Amino acid sequence: MSSNVLQDFLKLNLNELKEKGLYNEIDPLESSNGPVIKINGKELINLSSNNYLGLATDERLKQAMVEAIKEYGVGAGAVRTINGTFKLHLELEDKIAKFKHTEAAIAYQSGFNCNMAAISAVMDKNDAILSDELNHASIIDGCRLSKAKIIRVNHSDMLDLRNKAKEAKESGLYNKIMVITDGVFSMDGDIAKLPEIVEIAEEFDLITYVDDAHGSGVLGKGAGTVKHFQLSDKVDFQIGTLSKAIGVVGGYVAGKKDLIDWLKVRSRPFLFSTALTPADIAASIKSIEILSDSTELQEKLWENSEYLKKGLTKLGFDIGKSETPITPCIIGDELQTQQFSKRLYEEGVYAKSIVFPTVPKGTGRVRNMPTAGHSKEMLDQTLAVYEKVGKEMNLI
Ligand code: PMP
Repeated sequence: MSSNVLQDFLKLNLNELKEKGLYNEIDPLESSNGPVIKINGKELINLSSNNYLGLATDERLKQAMVEAIKEYGVGAGAVRTINGTFKLHLELEDKIAKFKHTEAAIAYQSGFNCNMAAISAVMDKNDAILSDELNHASIIDGCRLSKAKIIRVNHSDMLDLRNKAKEAKESGLYNKIMVITDGVFSMDGDIAKLPEIVEIAEEFDLITYVDDAHGSGVLGKGAGTVKHFQLSDKVDFQIGTLSKAIGVVGGYVAGKKDLIDWLKVRSRPFLFSTALTPADIAASIKSIEILSDSTELQEKLWENSEYLKKGLTKLGFDIGKSETPITPCIIGDELQTQQFSKRLYEEGVYAKSIVFPTVPKGTGRVRNMPTAGHSKEMLDQTLAVYEKVGKEMNLI
């Protein structure tokens, strides 16, 4: 018999979420996650994937995966430190380090895992972390896991960061102090002010940690936000994911060799969770090769995102302060945001609503993720639907 306390807890909380329009319904895909998807038998223009460059459905990656499965099977069979490390893992790590312009790199099972792994391998209860208030959930959880003192910094507020860094340093309370930020903020699409962050870090001897899940493959000719600002030798931890622009699954930390050596002996997901599969690794290697050879896909991505952004702005939508392909359409009210997304769906556009707790209350938005795979016709059709639904709901 299931616990009454649990049943009451779940019922109360689920009902509350549903009443407030905060319960996220999941729509399972019946197709690949490309520019057009199928849900419930309906074809929709897809503006919700992180498949920025279209590589999740690329024939070359599929081929690399199939060959790896034939050669090595489907599972790694062990954690990295027992006997789950294949030569392929090392090849991938080498390729990531070159791609990121660092001495070394280490791969994990996901970007989320990276933040669980890396922060707590270095920071502990005698340390402090200066963390941007809009950092990704996995950074927040990684910081909590470390037991370090977490000092929240107002979003991209360099005066606040400097004051708090100075105060933490001068207090003498902490052995180490880290500053941690997203490279590109995933809900607004703005870029972290890395040159200023690095300057403050140098002044107060802070460890620098940049999670570039949304910048890698997108900025800095693909190498990411740190390279975009030419700061590759000034950032200690560069985190990335293999699941967005790279198109597969997994995550990595790139940095100095000593740091990576330490993570290999001290980061818990590396020691206690089964390694990425050979197929994931082989496809990721292929993806990084493609990105290292040409910037064609990035150029197409940026062209498409500029086109969509201009169109939405011209229609009168508020796209916030995005500087990257992430294009929010800020509606505000949670129920209205969900209604807007639902109407877009009915008209053939899949752009998911994002509401509290993913974003602050009252800042509900429909987030658009244009990709290199979208055609002009798809984007024009999207804009026509936005215009129709926006007018119908008195939003523009
Ligand atoms: N960090 C950031 C900044 C992210 O946006 C995401 C993806 N939502 C992650 C980490 C997690 O990456 P993954 O999906 O590979 O676990």
